Amino acid sequence: MIITSAHNPDSSIRHNSSSGGIFSMLAADVIGKGGIVYGAAFDQTWSVRHRRVDSIEGLASLRGSKYVFSDFANSIKCVLQDLDAGKKVLFCGTPCQVAAVRKQTGQSPRLLAVEIVCHGAPKPEFWQKYLQELCGKKNRTIADVKAVCFRDKRTGWKDYSFTVAFNDGKIFTQRHDDNLYMRAFINRLILREGCFHCPFKYPQGSTADITLGDFWGITQLAPDIDNDLGTTIIIAHTQVGEDAISFIGHAKSYALESVAKYNPAITTSACMPSERQHFLADAQTAPFLHVLKKYAKRPLSERIYLSLARAKCKIFKLVK
Ligand SMILES: Cc1cc2nc3c(=O)[nH]c(=O)nc-3n(C[C@H](O)[C@H](O)[C@H](O)COP(=O)(O)OP(=O)(O)OC[C@H]3O[C@@H](n4cnc5c(N)ncnc54)[C@H](O)[C@@H]3O)c2cc1C
Ligand code: SF4
Repeated sequence: MIITSAHNPDSSIRHNSSSGGIFSMLAADVIGKGGIVYGAAFDQTWSVRHRRVDSIEGLASLRGSKYVFSDFANSIKCVLQDLDAGKKVLFCGTPCQVAAVRKQTGQSPRLLAVEIVCHGAPKPEFWQKYLQELCGKKNRTIADVKAVCFRDKRTGWKDYSFTVAFNDGKIFTQRHDDNLYMRAFINRLILREGCFHCPFKYPQGSTADITLGDFWGITQLAPDIDNDLGTTIIIAHTQVGEDAISFIGHAKSYALESVAKYNPAITTSACMPSERQHFLADAQTAPFLHVLKKYAKRPLSERIYLSLARAKCKIFKLVK
């Protein structure tokens, strides 16, 4: 087993990826060898579903985390067809999706199964309600959306933003901890029920060859390589996985306990928030933005503290 960290040398790909852009390196390697890549992409209605990609250009749509459970049902049949046709296949998804694919394919030597570290995935209906109501509030519809980025790094990798760009050039962007959808995701309100007792956690439950996540322990474990542009933690746990990352190199290595200490989602399920049942009941009847405000809005004391801190920071920059 190898636990290491790395980033993509192409800074534009790294910028458009959630952590260090290692998914894109693995995917480009497979495509370069004539293989096929499956990963999560937005469709025309901004729903998230798995897509089959056979070109380097096509990988752009797969880059970046989409914080919605992806519809991957149709891709299992296609993965089997590609493997039967003798192609190398990289499937990337949540650990439960990888387990579902693995159940059908068995230990095929042509399959590279890549799972992402998974805090839990929001129910698609919550994402659709949020996006619809957000667009409505801006006097727009979902058809007016040009791009969505859950991990906009223009404000940094650690302090990332949530951004929606519209066809008319207008942009809605908020720091992740100011955005109601992201706060509800991080505070676990909108996750699927099964995520609170996930049986697919690494190491016992994982069926993947490689696990990829944000290297959130970087400040403590490897401050020398941290420039806040994004770094991926890579766990290669089979021979297929170790061979697949060999071209990336692994100068640094870490113990599982130390990386999991700063990124508990690697090994542990999210715990259910106490207010979840009330949240779900309210979400059935009231407008979703209203419900998010009630349960996920930053408390007043924190908002005051944050505005003061931000104002102080601005004044400091002006004086400097
Ligand atoms: C719902 C969710 C929860 C996550 N929770 C954590 C966490 O708690 N801790 C952590 O360290 N990392 C978490 N991640 C993973 C992390 O955000 C990065 O995806 C990972 O570090 C790989 O980054 P990258 O830069 O190498 O590649 P990226 O380009 O960022 O990864 C792209 C690939 O991720 C997969 N992906 C993206 N969205 C989805 C989706 N909705 N469903 C299935 N697969 C998807 C796709 O196959 C996609 O092609 C989560 C990701 C998702 C989608
Ligand atoms: S937490 Fe587990 S069950 Fe939930 S989406 Fe992630 S892998 Fe699947």
